[in-house]
Amino acid sequence: MKKIQIAIVGAGPAGLSLAIELSNMGYSDVVVFEREDEAGGTPRHCGHLGFGIFEFYRLLSGPNYAKKLVEIALSKNITIKLKHTLINIEKNNLTFSTTDGLETYSAQKTILALGARETPRPSRFVSGTRSPNIITTGALQRFVYMQKCAPFKNAVIIGSEVVSFSAIMSAKHAGIKIKAIIEEDENLNTFNILKPISELFLKTPVKVGYKVLSINGEEKNIQSVTISKNGIEEIIECDGVIFSGKFTPESAILQENFKDFNHTNNSVFVSQIFQTTSKNFFAVGNVLRGALTAFKCYFEGKKLARFIDDSLKNTKLNPLHVKIQCDENIQWYSPSLVDLNYPSKTLTNLRINKKATGKIIVSLNDNDVYSKDINVSTYTNIKIPRLDYPISKNDNVKIRLES
Ligand SMILES: Cc1cc2nc3c(=O)[nH]c(=O)nc-3n(C[C@H](O)[C@H](O)[C@H](O)COP(=O)(O)OP(=O)(O)OC[C@H]3O[C@@H](n4cnc5c(N)ncnc54)[C@H](O)[C@@H]3O)c2cc1C
Repeated sequence: MKKIQIAIVGAGPAGLSLAIELSNMGYSDVVVFEREDEAGGTPRHCGHLGFGIFEFYRLLSGPNYAKKLVEIALSKNITIKLKHTLINIEKNNLTFSTTDGLETYSAQKTILALGARETPRPSRFVSGTRSPNIITTGALQRFVYMQKCAPFKNAVIIGSEVVSFSAIMSAKHAGIKIKAIIEEDENLNTFNILKPISELFLKTPVKVGYKVLSINGEEKNIQSVTISKNGIEEIIECDGVIFSGKFTPESAILQENFKDFNHTNNSVFVSQIFQTTSKNFFAVGNVLRGALTAFKCYFEGKKLARFIDDSLKNTKLNPLHVKIQCDENIQWYSPSLVDLNYPSKTLTNLRINKKATGKIIVSLNDNDVYSKDINVSTYTNIKIPRLDYPISKNDNVKIRLES
């Protein structure tokens, strides 16, 4: 068993920015663990521009952004242990599967920065042929930008989040034709302007309100997908299918190892200082909810350093957590605990799981104490400010949507 002061699991923007900031504050016993054979996280395979403006005042591609973060971390002598996959958490002990077998570390503070991933086909219940040509945008990006190859020639994209439209660009880069974007909802799950841009400039039809009935083919070869709207079926010929978006935290290991799991967020409960219900464990970045952009995760990691410093110095300060509960209309909310030791201007930030017009209502011990009119889409972040009423330890804070 090796002892370390601070273990950070996940070398994406959140984990690396935290490690860098801790190093700037004088912490030297910080180890970052990463399951891949390269650090940098998801941006490593986002081959397009759009990263780094707020962090480095430069427009970078995902891989260059990841490289820059890793270079800064290494220049500060931060240890990054690659090919270390966290497989078990017991008290303060972390067990990793490595190429040399299992390794266990005991850390004073552990930060989980495991990121998020897209929901793949099996969890979306689309029937039909099983083929290796049914992939996520992340996998497409790895084929196109890392392995420099095209897994298929003609594909449809299922889903209409920003990442679905970025999948068109990744596909174009590899010479893959996108036959259509298919969205089950009646509305896009991103900015409406992307539909005309996609149709006019990228010659990719965007079909909203269509259900994907099946992926057709023989054995492992895809020949088409069948979609339907208002009972009318349509067949689109293709040899590949890309399931994009519907981000979900990389939280399987947390669900197994944390007694208290937040099923709304599919993650652990965290307070406004990113502390979980286990005092020595913190979580940061996209493992807290679906995907937010790299710069938001980077700045979350940077902000967390101050609280890690605080918790190492104020060992007697015990968290005073009050859980926030949300109804089934809330897609995710963060933070999900209020720590009464730390004043905050915000109660939580949240997203609704559908396009909604109505009111967000916060109740304290079943009395409505805050309400906000909303007219939002699924991708809109809604900020709920601190309540005007004092909250104490055994209070009940609930958030609901009335539409
Ligand atoms: C397909 C896809 C495309 C995206 N495109 C963009 C984009 O264009 N622009 C943008 O701003 N954002 C994009 N995002 C959002 C992206 O997640 C964030 O930009 C950012 O990378 C999140 O930072 P993070 O540090 O929280 O997580 P990540 O960058 O995902 O890093 C998490 C790290 O933890 C590691 N890890 C996970 N589990 C374990 C384990 N058990 N043990 C050890 N290590 C582990 C992972 O390998 C990974 O390296 C995209 C996300 C996806 C999935």
